[in-house]
Amino acid sequence: MSTLLVRRIGSLCTCDPQVGPPPGVIEDAALTARDGVITFAGRETDLNSSALPLDTVEVDASGLAVVPGFIDAHTHIVWLGERSEEYAQRAGGWTYQEIAAAGGGIRATVRDTARGDVDALAAAARERARRMLRHGTTTVEIKSGYGLTKAAEMRQLDAALRLRSDPGLPDVVATYLPLHAPPEGDREAFIDAVCIQGIDAAAQRARFVDAFCDEGAFTVAECERVLTAARARGLGIKLHAEQLSHSGGAMLAARLGAVSADHLEHAGEADLRALAAASVVGVVLPGAALVLGGPPPPGRQILDAGARLAVATDCNPGTCYSESMPLMVSLPPRGAPPRWASWTADRCAPECAATQ
Ligand SMILES: [Zn+2]
Repeated sequence: MSTLLVRRIGSLCTCDPQVGPPPGVIEDAALTARDGVITFAGRETDLNSSALPLDTVEVDASGLAVVPGFIDAHTHIVWLGERSEEYAQRAGGWTYQEIAAAGGGIRATVRDTARGDVDALAAAARERARRMLRHGTTTVEIKSGYGLTKAAEMRQLDAALRLRSDPGLPDVVATYLPLHAPPEGDREAFIDAVCIQGIDAAAQRARFVDAFCDEGAFTVAECERVLTAARARGLGIKLHAEQLSHSGGAMLAARLGAVSADHLEHAGEADLRALAAASVVGVVLPGAALVLGGPPPPGRQILDAGARLAVATDCNPGTCYSESMPLMVSLPPRGAPPRWASWTADRCAPECAATQ
């Protein structure tokens, strides 16, 4: 296809504030592209269609919206196995921590994922990435984190990078997530190994390093050691922060100049202002918040604090198995709808889960 014409667009979202109301919306629009480059984006009445080549492929948008591809900035799509029983456990009132203590959660996926070589991991992730593209995602960040050992973590990163060579999938950005579930043995030795051998190996593969800072995961001091080592190695840094409790992750992300602080359900106003002052993007993951039955993420509060906001799927086998950015964008922010409030207050009661 050399030239594409999309006409009868109800709302064309350009992300250019000069051309229309936020986010740069043009009503009754058309768009043309040639060899993958957009050549016209404006009102359909301003399009000179007689100048288009005869072989132009025309798509009728029938009044629907046309938006740029989504960037899904937080996913864990390289895994084997499944944890569907945890959804029933949660519906029965189990907490994240209780499921983990019973052998479920991240550690269950670590056990299953350890069985796979790079080929098997890439095959599993490829199907999820393909579904992401069908939902409109054109760039996806993929984390490791189900390896825990250096070798297993590198297999996950190699599997993520394998997807890059497939033109039928979203673009891939890889993130090394060594601090996801705490080790069973010596924590100090585990962190030492991550800071030296782990980051060294990941630097060949990943653009970012991430850590899970929370109760039952890793402390602020442990995360700071790893992220500081990553930064010294020239890698970007990110942090899972304030998801299950208020544990200081957002302030750490601000202090270290992280690219993003993700989750933030338990962040306070001072945390969000610190993120804004340090230009840290607040990434909200409303699907995981909904499944876990905690407070909805503070989307509006992040914006009101002056920080930049992103929405992502957190696609993973346990707390949000969805590849759909449109679904995540449609979930309401804190402070809105009573339906969301009652859903979370009931912690997804059994009768509610049975109807899903
Ligand atoms: Zn995550």
